[in-house]
Amino acid sequence: MKFQQLANTIFPSIENTPDYYINKYPKRNIKEGAKVTRYAPSPTGFQHIGGVFSALIDERIATQSGGVFYLRIEDTDQKREVEGAIEDTINTMHKFGLDFTEGMTGDNSSKGDYGPYKQSERGEIYKTFAKELIAKGLAYPCFCTSEDLEKLREKQIADKLTPGYYGEFASCRNLSEEEAIKRINNGERYIIRLKSPGNSENRIEFHDLIKGDISFPESNQDIVIVKSDGLPTYHFAHAIDDALMGTTTVIRGEEWLSSLPIHVQLFDILGFKRPEYAHTPTIMKQDGGSKRKLSKRKDAESAVSYYDEEGYPMISVIEYLLNIINSTFEEWREENPTEDYHNFEVSLDKMSKSGALFDIVKLNDVSKNVICRLKADVVYDYYIKWAKQYDEEMYKLVTANEKLAKEIFNIDKEGPKPRKDFAKWNDVKEKIFYFFDDLFKNDGKENVELPKNVELEEAKRIIEAYAKAYNFNTDKDTWFEDLKAVAVELGYATDRKAFKKDPEAYKGMVSDVAGSVRAALTHRANTPDLYTIMQIMGEKLVRSRFTEFINL
Ligand code: GLU
Repeated sequence: MKFQQLANTIFPSIENTPDYYINKYPKRNIKEGAKVTRYAPSPTGFQHIGGVFSALIDERIATQSGGVFYLRIEDTDQKREVEGAIEDTINTMHKFGLDFTEGMTGDNSSKGDYGPYKQSERGEIYKTFAKELIAKGLAYPCFCTSEDLEKLREKQIADKLTPGYYGEFASCRNLSEEEAIKRINNGERYIIRLKSPGNSENRIEFHDLIKGDISFPESNQDIVIVKSDGLPTYHFAHAIDDALMGTTTVIRGEEWLSSLPIHVQLFDILGFKRPEYAHTPTIMKQDGGSKRKLSKRKDAESAVSYYDEEGYPMISVIEYLLNIINSTFEEWREENPTEDYHNFEVSLDKMSKSGALFDIVKLNDVSKNVICRLKADVVYDYYIKWAKQYDEEMYKLVTANEKLAKEIFNIDKEGPKPRKDFAKWNDVKEKIFYFFDDLFKNDGKENVELPKNVELEEAKRIIEAYAKAYNFNTDKDTWFEDLKAVAVELGYATDRKAFKKDPEAYKGMVSDVAGSVRAALTHRANTPDLYTIMQIMGEKLVRSRFTEFINL
């Protein structure tokens, strides 16, 4: 081959040819139409919610089609590597029900026939392909320093030319083989560049599975394929790995869309079949009047750990992400309230082409729906699991009062419109604290929420009167009749129409009386059904709360 000697000088120990690897990793034996997808993070140690978003799409597309979903670790930027990050990634995804069928299984272990699945262990493979490109005159060593490149760039900008290393500006492109070998033997530092055959006047038509039909100019840039540390760039590794690992569908963030011309060219030059691509929208957040990228630095909710700490059931996060992925999920969920989300078919072409808006309020709604569908026993189990780790006081209280806690979690659950009190386990304490004296005693007078038109002293009078009439052992209707009788006795209306007609004739409505009882028992205006609360509390607790309230 033309530049075999140069190739041998650069990679003296590489003996295999690309064919060796092409034969080593044969075509996958999967059924027609099955998709092979991968999650390919850099092991930085930070689990971003965007990673779960990506992995969920990958997993759904692979699993729905009976394909393969594998984990590849992209650790060629070794400065960023963090100990234990791979295991952490696997555990995080597992928690969200996302399990890899192939690829890395731990920091130093893997399964599957298409490995190694960690880029830092694939050095030989990249070098083999780079060597062949050099020998064929399709790649070359470049000795330009960063100062040289900076000067070139300044000049191109001043001349109003596209900046970059290409065509006539690619000065190392035309070095003779002897000269290049001489400089290497002299110990000069170099990188390896692709000799781009592209012409920026030509346009390429492309179909992206999310963005639809797109068109872009051919790449004419002599991009770097191997860095001075001998490791491949993202571009080069992407082409080789996804080709050899048999990825059918590259699903990745839209920040890579602008590199697509380079990738298409690399696949062609390397003689690989191009995969399908799907570029997912970036997760954005509304910040005042504008949208911006969800930021690791500014937004707590960008970290996966946030959802653990706040106590969102993982399924809530998944269902919320499915809402972002396909807006049709919401309707499907309404029509199929009890179905497993796996039965919803994710489709890439229904995905929003622009930013995906991340919205905690919407997440809370979704999560309330998820939790309200759970049986009380299940809520209890989830809750104590969370509390054990994040709220010891609640853990002790709730587990010491298991029966009571389950009764509380069961309030208004069985009916056709179950209550939607909790979006996350961190909400539970504020919603149920009043059942527990230990917590209630710390809730100060300033927190008592009285009905709008009732002063504290009047509320106390109401409680005094009601305490006398109160009878624990009655059904709900009788209980309400008793309450109304107290209302009438104190000058409150029991009939809305009568009250509306002549408001001056009354102190208020029976709802003000009920609201005062509610305030005495719970300190809160918004609670589940009062009769139920009183039944669960029991007569003794109710009476002691009345006394405490009167002495407030
Ligand atoms: N390691 C790349 C990233 O984290 C992966 C992109 C891809 O999926 O190809 O952005």
